Amino acid sequence: MYKIVLIGDWGVGKTNILSQYTRGEFILGSPGTIGVQFSTKELQIDNAIVKVQVWDTAGQDKYRAITSTFYRGAHGALAIYDITRADTFNRLEIWLKELKEYVKDDCAIVIVGNKSDLPNLAEVKTEKAKNFAKENSYAFFETSALNASNINNAFDTAIQQIHLIQS
Ligand code: GDP
Repeated sequence: MYKIVLIGDWGVGKTNILSQYTRGEFILGSPGTIGVQFSTKELQIDNAIVKVQVWDTAGQDKYRAITSTFYRGAHGALAIYDITRADTFNRLEIWLKELKEYVKDDCAIVIVGNKSDLPNLAEVKTEKAKNFAKENSYAFFETSALNASNINNAFDTAIQQIHLIQS
């Protein structure tokens, strides 16, 4: 069982990334995550069947009490921002700092710029995010939970990195 947590501000698309990845569904105008939820998916890597558990949480201070349960034992994280809201990118460092207080140094981290289907509204340049990821040796993808672009690639990258470390 590999545990992956989705981190990032409220409204960046965590719930929809999770539902697109595990069920192939997108909900327009979903209300944003409340509390914690997780979904599982089984995958075959090489000749092994691995179970991936993906955890989603609300990026709101009200729910801070669940923090340690959420992060505990995570093998990987998707650190998600919304390409149309620069503040969500700027806060990634705070999210990553918090993550690292709870997980081991070998936690697989992927930076995800979501809502790539809204290029006209983009506030965060791809190059800027790509450089941030590169400087920190994180993988990087721009995704869309709406049209499913790069969602599988982002998860696969995290899972393969975890698999390498664990096996
Ligand atoms: P969360 O709070 O991070 O879980 O965010 P949600 O998944 O609830 O998404 C917040 C809002 O953004 C909702 O209105 C979604 O429909 C919308 N949304 C999520 N992902 C995308 C995307 O890739 N493209 C577009 N255009 N909207 C998205």
